[in-house]
Amino acid sequence: MSVRVVLASRNAHKLIELRRILEQVGLDIDLVGTDEFPGLPDVDETGSSFVANALLKAREVCAFTGLPAIADDSGISVDALNGMPGIYSARWAGIHGDDVANLNLLIAQLDHVAPNKRGAAFRCAAAIVTPQGDERVVEGTLEGTLLTEPRGTRGFGYDPIFVPLGYEMTTAEMSDDEKDAISHRGRALAALAPVIEQLIPEAKKQ
Ligand code: IMP
Repeated sequence: MSVRVVLASRNAHKLIELRRILEQVGLDIDLVGTDEFPGLPDVDETGSSFVANALLKAREVCAFTGLPAIADDSGISVDALNGMPGIYSARWAGIHGDDVANLNLLIAQLDHVAPNKRGAAFRCAAAIVTPQGDERVVEGTLEGTLLTEPRGTRGFGYDPIFVPLGYEMTTAEMSDDEKDAISHRGRALAALAPVIEQLIPEAKKQ
């Protein structure tokens, strides 16, 4: 029987992405989202780093469900803004999750920044916490540069202005598979897979 693990997210896309990665590395895990646990309160992201916030979410979901829990936290760090928006990426313009306002504010803030100073990176921390008290965090990064005008309609958040190093297109012009293969989240989750295997050995397929 496969081991149940909770992903601290209501995002169906993240659930599908992580299930695929776990399958690829040969782990037999029944990964469920937090929607399966009515009454689970939304966790306030009060940490001061991606690592702290990912751990916070995984801890609370593990404590509530009594199951191993995985959580991630991500955002964009812009060189010309000393690494901001960082953990404030989702609410940079004031309202949590207002992707259009966040993107437009960042474009305006970088208006006078020279092309060779427009470096940025998407960052993701992924954590696992088990009922036995084990805690681990790994990170994934995607480096790139920022355009002055949005391009592409796929993805979300800051994707329309983000061009990964070595690419011409923005992450909003990539297919989901193309982006997942190089993304900060894809990298962090791929790095988490062997850690899950180590902490939950019974998840290894026979
Ligand atoms: P969360 O980790 O899902 O809460 O994402 C935090 C915020 O970071 C999002 O609301 C986006 O603004 C930004 N972000 C994180 N990952 C990406 C990405 O892959 N593309 C574009 N924006 C992202």
